[in-house]
Amino acid sequence: MKRRQLLKYFSFAPVAGAVIGTSIPFKSVIAGTKASKRDLVKELGLRTFINAAGTYTAMTASLMHDEVLQAISSSSREFIMYDEVQDKVGEKIAAICHSEAALVTAGCWSALVLGTAGVLTGMDLKKVALLPNVDSFEKNEVIVQKGHNHGYIHALTNTGIKPVEIETGEQLQRAITSKTALMYFLNESSLLGKIQHQEFLEIAKKNNIPTLIDIAADIPPVENLWKYNDMGFDLVCVSGGKAIRGPQSAGLLLGKKHLIAAARLSAPPRGGNIGRGMKVNKEEVLGMYAALDRYVKQDHDKEWKMWEAQVAVIENAAKKVKGVTTQVTVPPIANHTPALKISWDPAVVKLTKKEMQEKLRTGNPSIEVMSTADNTINITVFMLKPGQEKIVANRVNEELVRASA
Ligand SMILES: *Cc1c(COP(=O)(O)O)cnc(C)c1O
Repeated sequence: MKRRQLLKYFSFAPVAGAVIGTSIPFKSVIAGTKASKRDLVKELGLRTFINAAGTYTAMTASLMHDEVLQAISSSSREFIMYDEVQDKVGEKIAAICHSEAALVTAGCWSALVLGTAGVLTGMDLKKVALLPNVDSFEKNEVIVQKGHNHGYIHALTNTGIKPVEIETGEQLQRAITSKTALMYFLNESSLLGKIQHQEFLEIAKKNNIPTLIDIAADIPPVENLWKYNDMGFDLVCVSGGKAIRGPQSAGLLLGKKHLIAAARLSAPPRGGNIGRGMKVNKEEVLGMYAALDRYVKQDHDKEWKMWEAQVAVIENAAKKVKGVTTQVTVPPIANHTPALKISWDPAVVKLTKKEMQEKLRTGNPSIEVMSTADNTINITVFMLKPGQEKIVANRVNEELVRASA
């Protein structure tokens, strides 16, 4: 075919039809796929459950609202340049969170990795390619308080950065050297550290050291989305799939423009860097924004009252049983929602905590709860669907009564 004929052919060829010589029309490949009708959860026999435990990664954390699913679904039918999605969503998220810039990351964990990478490399592509081999870097140490130095530090050390542990403000000042790249604060461990936010930031500013704070599970309260940016942390890392109810695999890196730009050099769509595997697809980038937008607009007081009422329903059903005591607390920092503790006298209610969890798990419907002590289960309601509190209340009461016989 000559070029002109070919062009003519294409302009008249049916869009979903056969292209020159192929005998398999595109349409037949997708025809008959009733995607919307297929229920893989049923088909594969997967157990679903009422989540009275909380936003645990192993339990798939949270459920996305319809607005989020809609954002994912509607954006999935077109191509968009990846950086353009991140640029636009980043602007919107930064405005909500009072930060100069923002990036949607593959969970809070990768926000920690990419943020640290950005601090280490700046805009130097040679450095980006070197990570995690930072021996030749002038600055390759991160200072961390002893009480903040556990599991999550691994996200930072993925970049090759070396932790330097300190306890007091005096030790912190002495530990700052020409090798100090970053100071890291784990918000949920605030009370385990001797240095609080203001002192930490003052010392950082005085010595011109960037700061990064992990507030992964510390929303609610909603104000925490901007509180630490307003306070002056250079980078703030948040989980998207916990109480904000974005995609479980999404998170937020918030902070200074130059640091977010540097962090992006280690992130997809660019390769040859430590973050190439930390991809968030465009649908989830948009889904994350939809979740955040919905979250900041919702009525948080009303939601809190609903949680208290749901907790009361379960508490009342449990404490009707002889030998059972209950307590409602609100964790001051992470997972800041009403939490119910149900304990029983093992001489009266003959159940171990494991047996109780197993009975709730294997019942119909299946229910997951946590347990942090003997003869005790721990319940939160912020992952319940409306009405499920009654089912949980009945099932807990039923098992407690049955074991009291
Ligand atoms: C959950 C959590 C993370 C990891 O967050 P993801 O969004 O699951 O990647 C990091 N730090 C803290 C303190 C967390 O609670």
